Amino acid sequence: MRIFPLGVWAVSTSGETTSFLVDAGSTRLMLDVGLNPGHSLATHAIPLTTVTHVFLSHSHSDHMQGFANLVFTRDAQQRQHGPAPRLNVIACSADLGRAQSLLEIFYPERKFDVDWTAVAPGSTIGLNDFEMTFFATEHTVPGLGAVLARNSSKLVVYTSDTAACDSVREAAEGAHLLVGECFGTRQDFGAVAERLKHMCAEDMAELAQSAGVLRVMPFHMHTPYTASDRRADLINAIAARFSGEILDPVPSRPIEVHSEGAGDD
Ligand SMILES: [Zn+2]
Ligand SMILES: [Zn+2]
Repeated sequence: MRIFPLGVWAVSTSGETTSFLVDAGSTRLMLDVGLNPGHSLATHAIPLTTVTHVFLSHSHSDHMQGFANLVFTRDAQQRQHGPAPRLNVIACSADLGRAQSLLEIFYPERKFDVDWTAVAPGSTIGLNDFEMTFFATEHTVPGLGAVLARNSSKLVVYTSDTAACDSVREAAEGAHLLVGECFGTRQDFGAVAERLKHMCAEDMAELAQSAGVLRVMPFHMHTPYTASDRRADLINAIAARFSGEILDPVPSRPIEVHSEGAGDD
């Protein structure tokens, strides 16, 4: 399994917002779609027509705004790349309704071949290459995080936007890779992160350490951390509290994830 960090920023002035591609062979799953998923994938020479599943964690624009454009562009790309498999969209039922509304707003004249899978905290769905289980986040709107597991081994846990809480800690328990929200350091963003229910670097690091996670990849970083020296400060704040490997998601490069242990890619 490979994971591509396509969008790792909290605000669009810094770069593409939250979006990851999980490439697991026959399953290509997007974890949130950011603002311009077609372009993000094009930078890796991956056509949208090869994406099989889309998970929408919650309805904020930095995670969901690109959805209608993804469906439209994926359809259009078939002329260039050949037929795409049916797209399966996974979210809580309220957010599926919002995604359907986005398609109706932008493309009232068209129908797209999309399957809609409603999930809730505790749901598990089987994809071809792994199982996906969902857990509740603690954010300003209802949201879901996801655990990707194979043979009961947790390969990737994606927190989405959330305060540190028991459901996230439990989900992260023993994960190979935690894709963990990281708004900034407590010194820079502690007050705003608390008010808007986000994790700071220290929160994410302490959660990962207590959950026995092997590797973390911070995302949802705020603007100051586009500068590499400030991002190094952020990573140092994680390293002071987390003893595993820390993956800098900038620049975007695919990360190999195996169940056997850390450092095997
Ligand atoms: Zn949010
Ligand atoms: Zn967000």
